[in-house]
Amino acid sequence: MDWDNYRRSRDERSANVNLEVPPLVEPWSFNCIQAYYKGLTRAQSTMLLHLRTGVIGLRRVLFRMHLALDRVDSPLCECGTSNETALHHLVQCPLLSAQRQVLCDQVKDFSFLPLVTKHADLATVWAIMFFGIEQFNSAKEYLSRPGTDALNISAGGKKLLHSIKR
Ligand SMILES: [Zn+2]
Repeated sequence: MDWDNYRRSRDERSANVNLEVPPLVEPWSFNCIQAYYKGLTRAQSTMLLHLRTGVIGLRRVLFRMHLALDRVDSPLCECGTSNETALHHLVQCPLLSAQRQVLCDQVKDFSFLPLVTKHADLATVWAIMFFGIEQFNSAKEYLSRPGTDALNISAGGKKLLHSIKR
């Protein structure tokens, strides 16, 4: 079955799945996808996979999957304007607007798709720092170490971290 047929079959079977995520709307291109992940640390690659698929430890997913029921009683973000999703946190949430400015300053075409494709090295650093997902605590600690030169991330990522820490 080719990629387009597979996507169509998913449309029919999965009413409860978000079909607008980049991996399902992009044309299939191994080279292209490989390029998005090139040079990322393991934690960044994991974060990028979560951002792109929408399967991420934020309220909408946790609530829908009935995970963490003791802590998550709603899919809504704390800001109350939308469900807590990767897209909402990355580009919309008003509670993160001050923090988001450093990312906007470095990305001219600031919107979700460019962030999870050609600017993935920056978006993943920012998401690890500000999404507040427990799974990424040790990666956040690594990125929070004093100085950025020794970190195994892109020059752009180092510049972003420098701006965050200022
Ligand atoms: Zn919000």
